[in-house]
Amino acid sequence: MRVIALANQKGGVGKTTTAVNLAAVLAQMGHETLLIDCDPQANASTALGFFESSMGDPFRESSYCLFGEGATLSSVAIPTQYPNLNVVRGSKHLSGLEIELVEQHNRDGALRASINGDCGNYEFVILDTPPSLGLVTLNCLVAAHEVVIPVQCEFLSLAGLARLTDTVRAVQASLNPRLKIAGIAATMFDARTNLSREVTAELAKHYPGLMFKSVIPRTVKMAEAPSYGIPVVEYAPASAGAAAYISLAREVLQRTT
Ligand code: ATP
Ligand code: MG
Repeated sequence: MRVIALANQKGGVGKTTTAVNLAAVLAQMGHETLLIDCDPQANASTALGFFESSMGDPFRESSYCLFGEGATLSSVAIPTQYPNLNVVRGSKHLSGLEIELVEQHNRDGALRASINGDCGNYEFVILDTPPSLGLVTLNCLVAAHEVVIPVQCEFLSLAGLARLTDTVRAVQASLNPRLKIAGIAATMFDARTNLSREVTAELAKHYPGLMFKSVIPRTVKMAEAPSYGIPVVEYAPASAGAAAYISLAREVLQRTT
């Protein structure tokens, strides 16, 4: 089993879009995959067509309970309409966790304990994290074997990246020596702008060897897909965005740990 966290404390950089589509492509390739939505915004759940309003008890049926004690993946994971793709939904109650976890005994390793306690037969567990470096994201970094960092091809996108890589290094040094940065994925690349090219050049200069070759283009289809509750690789399988995520998933598969 490979546990891969999508992380970047900067908001709106493509964490959720990448988590959903990476999970969807891995599932399409025949790998049993579980996407765990760890963000109170629950955007990954919505992007797969699941709404919190349809949940009975968000404390017991969402990823919230995986941060407590005694919860198992199999008790919260539900199948999606796509073969091999399963999800643990997010809930707004996750926002309270930042404070609740401070008091908790195993406050940074709770998610790891839940995942390792019963990993089912998942080949891939993909963690979508919130835009912060709080305890929920820390739990994800402690539970993960690899981090994929999406970076938007926009002004200021490099600001904060050093803090994220420092955090990853600190987690490697103490709580999770196995953690690796799988790579940095440039997202929302707009070939019509010099800025996109400048940002990808800057990224390659600062993080040589870490950049994925696959670059995710900014497209209308990609922006539309979540509103239909369908991953872009299912909504528009022949689109440039889908091709980019298929290529990214292949790179992730090649970078075996
Ligand atoms: P947050 O930090 O709020 O969780 P995020 O990092 O998860 O955000 P996304 O939700 O994936 O980012 O993307 C932000 C917005 O940009 C969403 O509306 C999404 O649909 C859109 N988007 C993401 N990737 C693309 C793309 N390649 N082309 C066009 N729109 C995109
Ligand atoms: Mg998100």
